Amino acid sequence: MRKTTDPVHTHTGPGLGWCHWHKGPSGTAVLVDVIEQGSGPGRQLYACAPCREQRRLTPYCE
Ligand SMILES: [Zn+2]
Repeated sequence: MRKTTDPVHTHTGPGLGWCHWHKGPSGTAVLVDVIEQGSGPGRQLYACAPCREQRRLTPYCE
């Protein structure tokens, strides 16, 4: 079993700067949820300010 909490991979790939709710780039996107997966790292969901306000999303806290 490999640990999936690799800090190197938290800042790579799509994520920050991308809103998963309107599915577009955003300068205000923050991490709001992490979907646990059976294998591999959890899927991180980011939402921009307007989407967070609309859906009443709150920034994800570990
Ligand atoms: Zn958005």
